[in-house]
Amino acid sequence: MTAMTPQAAQATIRDDPAGQPLVVVTATAPTPNGPLHLGHLAGPFIAADVAARAARARGLRTLTVSGLDPHQNYVRTKAASQGREVTEVLDEYEGLVRRALGAARISYDVFNDPRADQDYRDRVGLVLDELAARGMVITERTALTRCSSCGTTLHHAYVSGDCASCGLPSSGGTCEACGAFTSAENLGRASCARCGGSPERFTADIPLLRLESWRAALTECWSGAIMPARVRALIGHYLACGLPDVPLAYPTDWGIPAGGNGNRADVWVEMGLGLITGIARRLDPAAEGLDQYAAAWRQVGEWWHFLGIDNAFYFAILFPGLFAAAGIDPGRLGGLVVNEFYQLDGLKFSTSRGHAVWAHEFLAQQDPATVRMYVCWDRPDRFESGFTRDAYAQFRDWIAAALADGGTLPPALAAAEARRAGHALELGTFDPGLALRCLLAAGPGRAPSVLRALTGVDTAP
Ligand SMILES: [Zn+2]
Ligand SMILES: [Zn+2]
Repeated sequence: MTAMTPQAAQATIRDDPAGQPLVVVTATAPTPNGPLHLGHLAGPFIAADVAARAARARGLRTLTVSGLDPHQNYVRTKAASQGREVTEVLDEYEGLVRRALGAARISYDVFNDPRADQDYRDRVGLVLDELAARGMVITERTALTRCSSCGTTLHHAYVSGDCASCGLPSSGGTCEACGAFTSAENLGRASCARCGGSPERFTADIPLLRLESWRAALTECWSGAIMPARVRALIGHYLACGLPDVPLAYPTDWGIPAGGNGNRADVWVEMGLGLITGIARRLDPAAEGLDQYAAAWRQVGEWWHFLGIDNAFYFAILFPGLFAAAGIDPGRLGGLVVNEFYQLDGLKFSTSRGHAVWAHEFLAQQDPATVRMYVCWDRPDRFESGFTRDAYAQFRDWIAAALADGGTLPPALAAAEARRAGHALELGTFDPGLALRCLLAAGPGRAPSVLRALTGVDTAP
């Protein structure tokens, strides 16, 4: 694991005189098939950083986690579309992702780097083997789908079709429109996204997680976790119609070799197992194997994910299933902080279509504190809010004077707004847009820790 700011991180984790339980805050590892754009910043990344800074300011022992996600086959399709080597594409975009996070004042205690970290790759395979050896996952001859023309196993970026739940176009993995679990086996009119070929069935011996057999643990997990209504609706759909079997590894041309029989780990399964091992080994660097990973995880009091709605199936359903299979208490999921898509000039930000404002470029031209406050102000947490350069420019020209103004409310009301600003950054009721509005009403001097969390500027209190 590569910590982005190892010195600062060590200090926060060691500061544990009373055995205080740990709060883990994750932001979905970004796929380096392009640079980060402002939609990513306005989604999980700045929000998770603000929440973690606020938790530390309240004295909570906090561990922040993210990483890179180079084993998405979207990286391969991007390289093919550009006529470049995939390693060249990854070198460029992983560098730009790191540059954008640094410029936005975001760092992590655990930053999984699958390409650089052989131990990470080895452990994903070992954990999958151990889960199979214990009977927590089953290996079974299973029907899969490949392209009848080019032979590609159809999964994730390699397949397109119509979502079985909502009917809208989708790739494999999850449907961006409704969040349902999608695969070449359940998409309507599935075809090869590489060559347009028609699908054909084949069989392979692959490890499967039968989520239905973890229904009791999952129900316990969900009953205690704080999640938005759309995620609860997705869970309700699967509780009613049956939780799916998820292939954990299968024969394909990209990803970590795992699961035997020439299979490679599904990239989201890799991410889930990487979180289990990466966090466990940060808490106990000597931990090896499921029992010791689960023991290390007992230090964790609550676990919070920051994610986009398109990843809800993985964080709400697949990861809790993997964690239960790995022997980690399902009650440790505190909740999910979920954003909708952010729009740019009325259309969804899109890396693949290049419809984006790239984060590293924008942050090089703008004050990072202003960018952080703006995306908190305009965050797509309740609806698909949208970025325009004109609105940003008006905010930038206004916010400094508004902060300097010091608030206009009578003292008792200002104090109430300052209290509300602080509570709005707690994980269970997280709303950084409300926190900023309350801060402006109260005057920033009344809630300096809120201002520091929002701007990412560390100054002495
Ligand atoms: Zn094909
Ligand atoms: Zn759908």
